[in-house]
Amino acid sequence: MLDHGWVATVLFEKALPWPCAATEHPAMDIATPTDYRAIAAGLAFPSEAFINGRFVAARSGARFTNLNPATAAILGEVAACDEDDVDAAVAAARRAFDAGAWSRAAPEARKDVLLRLAALLREHAMELSVMESLDSGKTITDCLNEVGHEVPNFFQWYGELIDKSFGKVAPTDESALALIVHEPVGVAGLVLPWNFPLLMAAWKLAPALAAGCSVVVKPAEQTPLTVLRLAELAAQAGLPDGVLNVVPGFGETAGQAIGRHRDIDVVSFTGSTEVGALFLKYASESNLKPVGLEMGGKSPFIVLDDAPIDDALVSNAVSAALWNGGQNCSANMRQFVPRARKDEFLDKVLARVAALTVGDPLDPATEMGAMVSADHQRRVLGYIEAGLGEGARVVAGGGALEGHDGYFVKPTVFDDVVHGMTIATEEIFGPVLGVIAFSEPEEALRMASDSVYGLHATVFTRDIDRALHFARRLPCGTVSINRFSEGDIKTPFGGYKRSGSLARDNGTEAIAQYQQTKTIWIGGPEG
Ligand code: NAD
Repeated sequence: MLDHGWVATVLFEKALPWPCAATEHPAMDIATPTDYRAIAAGLAFPSEAFINGRFVAARSGARFTNLNPATAAILGEVAACDEDDVDAAVAAARRAFDAGAWSRAAPEARKDVLLRLAALLREHAMELSVMESLDSGKTITDCLNEVGHEVPNFFQWYGELIDKSFGKVAPTDESALALIVHEPVGVAGLVLPWNFPLLMAAWKLAPALAAGCSVVVKPAEQTPLTVLRLAELAAQAGLPDGVLNVVPGFGETAGQAIGRHRDIDVVSFTGSTEVGALFLKYASESNLKPVGLEMGGKSPFIVLDDAPIDDALVSNAVSAALWNGGQNCSANMRQFVPRARKDEFLDKVLARVAALTVGDPLDPATEMGAMVSADHQRRVLGYIEAGLGEGARVVAGGGALEGHDGYFVKPTVFDDVVHGMTIATEEIFGPVLGVIAFSEPEEALRMASDSVYGLHATVFTRDIDRALHFARRLPCGTVSINRFSEGDIKTPFGGYKRSGSLARDNGTEAIAQYQQTKTIWIGGPEG
C-alpha cells in the first residue's frame, strides 16, 4: 500500500514487478513456489474469535467457510460472531480499560510490549505472509513486504512514538497553570477491509494500542486469518487480556453490532463509502461515538506534456492502476494523457501489461494474483461490460483469466475512455486501467477533480511550477509527484470528500483518532 522505501525500491526495482513492491528481509529469501507450498501445507489456521486473551467459539456456534480465492479450495471454518460475541468482546475491552494495566500504564511499558510484538511479528513473518497470501489471493512477494516488513514496522514506530509525545502548557498569568493533556478515548471498534488485511489492521491497531485504548477488531469476512494470529502474538508479547479482541464475522451482524454498540467510544473504519455512511448512521442512532472513515477512491494519474514517457513513468502508470490487482483504495485507474502523446503512452503501457505474470500467488514470479472472491470477480467483470457498453475500447485483457479454479481477471486496459462514463466515475477495485485524452492541462485538472472521491492523485511533470499548481489544486488527501506513492508510516493518509472523514491513518496524526484532549486548569493562591 505504501511507498516501501526508496533504497529498497532502487535496489530491487529491476527484479520486482511493481515500483512500490520491494522486500528487504533477507531471511525471507526463499525462492521457489515449492518452498512456499511446503510452508502453506504446515500452517495451522486460526478458526475462533479472540476474546479476553483466548480463542473462543462464537456463542451461537455459527461458523463460515473461508476460501483461498486463488484456488477456490476451502481453508477452514471460522467463528461467525454476532451481537452477543461483540457484547462479550466489548465487556472484556471495557474491563481491561477500566483496570488500567494498559490504559494507565507508563508509556515506556506500552512501548516495551509493542516492540516485543514487532519482534514476534518479524520472527513469524514467513508464516504470516504465506497465510495472508492464501487467505486473500495476494502475491507472496507483496505479502512478504506488507506483512513481513511493514506490519512490524508499524508496531515499532508507534511504540517508539508514544513515550516521546508531549502535552502542552497554555500561556497564563502566574495565578494559574493550564495543562493540556491527551488521554486514551476508551474502547475502540476497528472495522477492516480485505484488500490489505493485516496491514490495515496494523494501521489502526498500532496507534490505538500505543494511545492506551482497548480494541475490538472486526476483520473482513473474506480475510479473517492473519489478524487472529496477530492477537495471539500480542498476548505472547505481554498485552494484558481483554485489550485486544478480534471478532470475525459478517458486516451486517458483527460489523453493525460494533457500529451500534453503546459502550464503544470510537470507531475507525476502512472500507467502501457506502458502508462508511452506515457507520455514521449507526453512531447517530446509538451513542454519538466519533467515527473515523477511510473509504473508496477514483484516483487520477496525470501525465503533463513535458513529462518524458520513459520506463519509469510507464512502470508507475501500470503499478498505479494494477498493483494488487487494482484492489487498492488509491488505484490510479483514470489515466489522463495529452491527446498528442496518447499513442506513445498506450503502446508502452500495453507492452508492459502484456509482460505481466498473472496466476499462482505463491509463485514469487507472479506479479498479479486473484480477486478476493467470486462475487468481487463478477463485480469487476460487470464494470468491464459497462465500459464496453458505453463505448470505451478494450485494448488488453477484458475478461476472466481462463484455466484457473480461482477468481482471476486479466489485466485490462481501456482506450477511448470519456470523462463521465461509468468506468471513469465509479470505483472498480479491479485490474482496469483507463486512458482519457486531454487537450489542455487545465482540462485534465478539471476532469481529475470532478469526482465525489478525493483520496489520491499522481502527476508527472518536469516543471516545478506546474507540479505545485496541480498539487495545490487537486482536491485529495495525497498528491504524488513523478512517482506513484502513498507516502509511508510517517505521513498521514486519508481522503477528501467521500473518500474519508477528517481522521487520518498513519503519521503522528493517527494517534489523535484514539485520544481525547483534556484541559487541567490549576488555580494558584491568587487565582
Ligand atoms: P466493505 O465496505 O464492503 O467492507 C469493509 C468492512 O465493513 C468489512 O469488515 C465488512 O464486513 C464491514 N461491513 C460490510 N457491510 C457492513 C454493514 N452493513 N455494517 C457494518 N459493517 C459492514 O469494503 P471492502 O469490500 O472490504 O473493501 C474495499 C473498500 O475499502 C474499497 O472501497 C476501498 O477503496 C476501501 N479501502 C479504503 C482504504 C483507505 O485507506 N481509504 C484502504 C483500503 C480499502
